[in-house]
Amino acid sequence: MAEVYDPGNIFAKILRGEIPSHRVYEDDAVIAFMDVMPQGPGHTLVVPKAPSRNLLDANPSTFGPLFTVVQKVALAAKKALDADGVTILQFNEPASGQTVYHLHVHVIPRFDGIPLKPHSGGMEKPEVLAGNAEKIRAALGS
Ligand code: AMP
Repeated sequence: MAEVYDPGNIFAKILRGEIPSHRVYEDDAVIAFMDVMPQGPGHTLVVPKAPSRNLLDANPSTFGPLFTVVQKVALAAKKALDADGVTILQFNEPASGQTVYHLHVHVIPRFDGIPLKPHSGGMEKPEVLAGNAEKIRAALGS
């Protein structure tokens, strides 16, 4: 497969409002929403609006605003879920495990002694995602 950006990818559709998401944050450059197949409670995706497949083809100017929001969301998710730590993950191309080809960063609250669930595992119930999104939005606002 050619390594070119496809504007039909699912995160581009979320960015255009064509499909729903449990959104927790938005500014001019970045949005964040709940991962529908969370590797743990509160698993959030932070997504720049600028189109790139992943970190490898992104304009470096993307990273400042993106990681500023990654830190904000990590702090809020840790507080909202009363977590002990936060794992940050980011995948590039199929060999790495990437499945959606629009740059994004995973923010996953972590709890002592509890392993991550598998990447792209089972779908979470919408009401659970909505509840966690509400808690994270509240923590972002405080
Ligand atoms: P990656 O392997 O880094 O490309 O991971 C893509 C992530 O997107 C996975 O963790 C999926 O669970 C998640 N995902 C796929 N479709 C959606 C969707 N419609 N809304 C939210 N998260 C999604």
